[in-house]
Amino acid sequence: NGNSIAIRVDDLSFHYGDKNVLQHVTMEIKKGSFLGLVGPNGSGKSTLIKCILGLQKPQQGQVYLFGEKVNKFNDWDKIGYVSQKANSFNTAFPATAFEVVSMGLFGKVGLFRFLKPSDKKKVWDALKSVNMDKSAHQNIGELSGGQQQRIFIARALVSDPELLILDEPTVGVDTESTESFYKMLKDLHHDNNMTLVLVTHDVGVMTSYVTDVACLNKQVHFHGNTKEFEESSSDKMSAFYGHHVHVLHHDHEQK
Ligand code: ADP
Repeated sequence: NGNSIAIRVDDLSFHYGDKNVLQHVTMEIKKGSFLGLVGPNGSGKSTLIKCILGLQKPQQGQVYLFGEKVNKFNDWDKIGYVSQKANSFNTAFPATAFEVVSMGLFGKVGLFRFLKPSDKKKVWDALKSVNMDKSAHQNIGELSGGQQQRIFIARALVSDPELLILDEPTVGVDTESTESFYKMLKDLHHDNNMTLVLVTHDVGVMTSYVTDVACLNKQVHFHGNTKEFEESSSDKMSAFYGHHVHVLHHDHEQK
């Protein structure tokens, strides 16, 4: 049933000049799933996300968002995106966490003084859902990298998207904070009934928080639910990654 698919990528190929980055990528991302999209650095993850969002035009293939061809799609309020570039947001800019989140309602700074009570509530709700309401009045530059990521996610959440895409949100975040970050995403996914796509080069602990895993390296090497992922041979995954991968909760040896 096409109505149950949030994103459909159909035989998509992409190259920068001579460099093939994506080859015949076909995948369906189910509505309501929490997908971990993993692959080593340079495997084409960001490029695929940009094609999905219509920010890059593939030389071949098609993307459908909620059943609509991406070039015809115009319901962008349904989609929240936190790019890797969010990291380079000028955090020296004198804005509080609350102000940064309110930017998600208007797309620019300076209007936060004119927020209606209903808008203020949306900002507070978004801050609460990433467990950052206590830091609302702190300057964004005073927060840790992981806390800033939560604020950028809240900024995307404030317009109540049905689909949220996060590109490498845990880069520069320490292991312990990464686990609590994934826990926060899992709760967010559970509480908001939304589709969540988490892009990461780090397969590790992520797999115990998501519902589905897709492994990309130019092509889709694996796509299934976490149970199927755990059952897939860790040797196969290690070959995919070029180094040993510990597949969590791997109870039985593969035949
Ligand atoms: P990932 O997100 O998995 O790290 P990317 O999609 O960013 O991978 O990049 C895939 C490949 O394409 C890499 O080899 C990268 O160097 C190359 N690449 C990315 N952006 C460009 C660009 N604008 N021009 C040329 N090559 C690029």
